Amino acid sequence: MKDLRRDSKHQQLTVAVRIRPINEAELDEGATIIAHKLGDQIVILKDPTEDPDDILRANRSREKTFIFDMVFDQGATQEEVYVSTTKKLVEGVISGYNATVFAYGPTGAGKTYTMLGMDCEPGIYIQTLNDLFKAIESTSDNMDYTVSMSYLEIYNEVIRDLLNPSSGFLDLREDSRGNIQIPGITEFSTNNAREIMQLLTKGNKQRTQEPTAANKASSRSHAVLQVTVKQKSRVKNVIEEVRVGRLFMIDLAGSERASQTQNRGKRMKEGAHINRSLLALGNCITALSEKGGSRAHYVNFRDSKLTRLLKDSLGGNSRTVMIAHISPASTYFEESRTTLIYAYRAK
Ligand code: ADP
Ligand code: MG
Repeated sequence: MKDLRRDSKHQQLTVAVRIRPINEAELDEGATIIAHKLGDQIVILKDPTEDPDDILRANRSREKTFIFDMVFDQGATQEEVYVSTTKKLVEGVISGYNATVFAYGPTGAGKTYTMLGMDCEPGIYIQTLNDLFKAIESTSDNMDYTVSMSYLEIYNEVIRDLLNPSSGFLDLREDSRGNIQIPGITEFSTNNAREIMQLLTKGNKQRTQEPTAANKASSRSHAVLQVTVKQKSRVKNVIEEVRVGRLFMIDLAGSERASQTQNRGKRMKEGAHINRSLLALGNCITALSEKGGSRAHYVNFRDSKLTRLLKDSLGGNSRTVMIAHISPASTYFEESRTTLIYAYRAK
């Protein structure tokens, strides 16, 4: 088996930024475009503050430059985003390695478009699964593969099955070998892309979305598509060896701050939970990238449900892709700035 750590082509952590197209509503509000892609790796963000004295007083320059592994703008297709970020993970997952893909960013910046997409513009979920099935079909080894999926949300530190929302709250457990399990969650098995898209679209509608002052439909939950590939030897009289590869594809909760949405009470609590888990996630990724991923036990996964669930899939031999999303509009300046800083820090 290939050791992914030693293969320089297989970078452990990839951080990408996707700038979505500006939309009618933003143009109607008089917004201008302030986020630009320069070359393949640079984002330039202009401070739209009108009064130059304000900028000087805040001690910052009008333009900030950020460098990432890759940058996409409105010209990038769903396929291009998939091929450059996630396609390269498929082979590893089939060989028994774990991987995680995150969509990060404020509500309305394009996370769900990238991950789920639409029937005519399928996102990373469907494209990845299609490639996974194709790759398994074309393997010539003596192995039996089974692929199963589950789709859940983490909302206020509570786990719910998006394919069976009436099943109530689910628990995270660790089995005797230290593997994280979610007893009782729906596992589905199909290689029909249309059927998967229907299940995920239906599940997505079950996500906890409640209006806030900032947005009509803000996503307050993390949606997690968990794909498990199990491998068994097909040769008779050979001790059955099972290898398991796990792929998490995660549409994170909106990263806008509780303070910005002027939330009180229940909303405020959500904001605190979301910030806590996004902070814990950022800390884990930063710690892992600093340590080259080799000393995962020093990383505090216990800080949130999300990082506990991902314990075996961040660091070590696992590979991680973070796609940060921003709107190019001037009205999103503060959210874009904090998103780019978060993503840059993860690197
Ligand atoms: P989020 O999940 O981050 O809240 P969405 O994915 O729902 O944001 O995107 C908000 C809106 O912008 C949706 O109507 C979506 O279809 C549209 N959109 C987002 N990204 C793109 C893109 N790259 N190209 C075209 N439309 C997009
Ligand atoms: Mg969304």
